[in-house]
Amino acid sequence: MGVEAYVIGGYVRDHYLGRPCDDVDIVVVGSGIEVARELGKRLRTKVSVFKTFGTAMLHADGIEVEFVGARKESYSPDSRKPAVEEGTLEDDQLRRDFTINALAWSLNEKDYGELVDPFGGMDDLDDCIIRTPCDPDITFSDDPLRMMRAIRFASQLGFDICDETFEAIQRNAHRISIVSKERIIIELNKIVLSPVPSIGFSLLSNAGLLPLIFPEMERLKGVERRGNNSHKDNFEHTLKVLDNIALKTNDLWLRWAAVVHDIAKPLTKAYDPKLGWTFHGHEALGAKLVPKIFRNMRLPLNEHMKFVQKLVALHLRPIILAEEVTDSAVRRLLFEAGDDIDALMTLCEADITSANDAKVRRFLSNFQLVRQKMHEIEEKDRIRNFQPPVDGELIMKTYGLEPCREVGEIKAAIKDAILDGVIANDYEQAYALMEQLAQEKGLTKITQ
Ligand code: ATP
Repeated sequence: MGVEAYVIGGYVRDHYLGRPCDDVDIVVVGSGIEVARELGKRLRTKVSVFKTFGTAMLHADGIEVEFVGARKESYSPDSRKPAVEEGTLEDDQLRRDFTINALAWSLNEKDYGELVDPFGGMDDLDDCIIRTPCDPDITFSDDPLRMMRAIRFASQLGFDICDETFEAIQRNAHRISIVSKERIIIELNKIVLSPVPSIGFSLLSNAGLLPLIFPEMERLKGVERRGNNSHKDNFEHTLKVLDNIALKTNDLWLRWAAVVHDIAKPLTKAYDPKLGWTFHGHEALGAKLVPKIFRNMRLPLNEHMKFVQKLVALHLRPIILAEEVTDSAVRRLLFEAGDDIDALMTLCEADITSANDAKVRRFLSNFQLVRQKMHEIEEKDRIRNFQPPVDGELIMKTYGLEPCREVGEIKAAIKDAILDGVIANDYEQAYALMEQLAQEKGLTKITQ
């Protein structure tokens, strides 16, 4: 067709990094849409055209290929959507956010496969550096989402952000206000899922972005002292817990549970001359704050949120168990955690972050005992997800009652007796206990 075309951006970068990538961006010096249409015809495959964006996309061999015309961009201060006009390949590379994202391979006959790298992207890949191809103050002010992207790439790839670029992020942090929360959370989730997420969160905080996008987490920072008593820095502690859990799981929500497990500590902090620093009730208050945080950050308000809430609420329970394991406490925890018990144990193990190695080892070996005990009790009593064998319906039917306090009390007493090991988790014994309790309350049976 007589036009030049290049593979550009993430695909080229990920090739050199040895990372899998199954979407290819192609920049055409001319009309990306026309080239895509022509290729679609030859490959006999459907082409989706997005006229407003001047892009077109097709699938070939399981790879998503997107075409765009080379462009120049100019921005206005209140929007991250630029005005665009046609440009050269170099114009298009210049509008890319980082040098490592501006690498291109020629698809043209004269120099097929050759790397086009006008801004030293290869050197930055070798040196593990994130750097903008043009003046970073302009790059970040034009599109402040790039600040989140810089930190996300640093965390995902384990790269450093070069000083000049990072200082520009610090100067432009306030510009994040023009970026939608939906875009921000996509980047933040990628940070949470990165191999060492503390890299990303520390950078966000040092850049001054964290107080703007997640103030509750920034407030975990700091140490207070009374005489010789100081508490640990809960921000540093949370990052350690998050890095610990990242070694064990790639589950986004379990990682989020680690992020917010101590989120209410600043609100519950108190100093008691006898006990020192306390954070009583931070687990319950933290669980209560989770929906507000999720709503604010545009995280989903569904079963994932409930899972995070549950883990925050229960996160101290296995630690208490590690000090004294009793059958009834284990049964109660199995009952309350249900299928999330393994996730809860993973969180609690990650939560042990003392600088004292011997203490960490002691706790972890106690946790082994707790896990073993849980396993034994679960095998024997099947407490996980259990429904008491005698339920409210049966109590009402047997004694001709409407829903009332007595029904609730009998039901709760049966559940407690099973969890405390007073009776077995079985119908006969539960029924007999119901009869005994009902008799004490002067209730008379209407059915057998
Ligand atoms: P990932 O696939 O991990 O999100 P990526 O770099 O491939 O990384 P995309 O969002 O697919 O990310 O973007 C593809 C390319 O488009 C990038 O490599 C970069 O060249 C360019 N790009 C994306 N977003 C921006 C932006 N906000 N500003 C400038 N260039 C961008």
